[in-house]
Amino acid sequence: MSDFDERDYSEDKEELENIDSKEKETGKEKTESENKKESEYEDVCFICRRPESKTGKMFKLPNNITVCNDCMHKTMDTVSQFDYQGMLNNPAFMDDLNKNMNGKGYPQIRFVNIADLQGEGGIPNKQRVKKKKPKTGEEPVLDIKNIPPPHKIKAQLDDYVIGQEHAKKVISVAVYNHYKRVATGTMDNIEIEKSNMLMIGPTGCGKTYLVKTLAKLLDVPLAIADATSLTEAGYIGDDIESVISKLLAAAGNDAEKAERGIVFIDEIDKIARKKNTTSRDVSGESVQQGMLRLLEGADVEVPVGANSKNAMVPLTTINTRNILFICGGAFPDLDEIIKQRLKKQTSIGFNAELKDKFDKEKNILSQVTVEDLKKFGMIPEFLGRLPVIYTLAALDKPMLVKILKEPKNAILKQYQKLLELDEVKLEFDEGALEAIAEKAMKKDTGARALRAIIEEFMLDIMYEIPKDDNIGRVIITREYIEGTGGPVIDIRSVSGENPDNLKAIEDKKQS
Ligand code: ADP
Repeated sequence: MSDFDERDYSEDKEELENIDSKEKETGKEKTESENKKESEYEDVCFICRRPESKTGKMFKLPNNITVCNDCMHKTMDTVSQFDYQGMLNNPAFMDDLNKNMNGKGYPQIRFVNIADLQGEGGIPNKQRVKKKKPKTGEEPVLDIKNIPPPHKIKAQLDDYVIGQEHAKKVISVAVYNHYKRVATGTMDNIEIEKSNMLMIGPTGCGKTYLVKTLAKLLDVPLAIADATSLTEAGYIGDDIESVISKLLAAAGNDAEKAERGIVFIDEIDKIARKKNTTSRDVSGESVQQGMLRLLEGADVEVPVGANSKNAMVPLTTINTRNILFICGGAFPDLDEIIKQRLKKQTSIGFNAELKDKFDKEKNILSQVTVEDLKKFGMIPEFLGRLPVIYTLAALDKPMLVKILKEPKNAILKQYQKLLELDEVKLEFDEGALEAIAEKAMKKDTGARALRAIIEEFMLDIMYEIPKDDNIGRVIITREYIEGTGGPVIDIRSVSGENPDNLKAIEDKKQS
């Protein structure tokens, strides 16, 4: 055993002895420390075995037995249905009972003290989960109770989300207004419209990422749902209210926190009303109808600690009035609808334009109107409840290069950090970054392709580099990405030619 271990051990022993002697002095201390130990663990329902974090507060019975609200109700219901009077009126039963009472026992009934089954009652600690410790000292970057002005919200978003200036501006203003209302409670006095949003942009352009970043900065719970999985209650799939139950779970079952959260519903374009059908459209239009109530603000009964309502799961009520709903979708072919409208507007009279003028325009989506969305298949009532509509641009090559290296948690920075731990400096030359962006553009999935591409060729680097202690620097080149060459590898002793690099590594070693 090393010195360190021994010292550790002796300290532990000392500590134990201290506690022991304290306990000997007063019996009280022992129970306090025991209580402390107990409270590290979550209570578990004696009947259904769900922990406190799922069931909410428990009933505490003697012998450390805890029963959840739900099981207690069920027990009470069952007991109240029992026909005691009928039993007492039955002479044969009463005779039996009396006879056996004298003989000290009941017929065919053996009483078991449940506490005897498991020692000091309740459930042993090894079968319980430890309580999650509340995070301490972590202040949210943006405080929703004292919401900073929009330009500060946008500045924080800028650290993570590249480009999409318009979207960031709109979202900052909407969030500012929303939480200002929530914090001051002005929604009660004046009916102010909620700032629910509709985000339109091609896949992989950062819609989900923008919302996730926002929720993280504000430290509010976030639930992300896919509109295609939502169905009207009663059909197979998640019913619409399940998004609120997800939000409650994200808020750690804290209903009050959930009521200030954000719900992001992705792929909202997939629940557009189907064109040219006369039959009732279960999947699309009715889901939109079903969402109206939530978007506007309603009391929703949601199961606690489960996805679906059933008899065993306790329910709680969540009011959705202060929940910010953000819907997002790619809306394919929406550009065609917009072009048609624009062509119609400009094809008559002196202002007539060439017909193909709009075909070449890149950012046609940004000219979207509510009318276009109605034509796409969104119902007017639904759009009416999403007053903030904005678009995100498709990512071009320079933006993809920036996404690779600039955000606070950029993919390149992550790899650089990992290799830094092995005291290796990782660099990418400009050509390499462009080559990665070009490859990603071909995949047509926006920035989503970047990680997959990088992971593919970084695998070899991450595997080989730690093998050799002499490697001081790796430079990824365009040739390596395109498969026509290898990365440039500097050996530590040789990298004396790069005093910069060597110095950084040496400094690190010394410190
Ligand atoms: P979608 O628009 O389809 O919801 P996502 O938001 O899921 O796309 O984007 C996928 C990933 O691409 C994100 O996790 C993020 O890392 C990256 N990304 C996309 N757009 C941006 C952006 N503008 N700035 C920084 N990273 C981005």
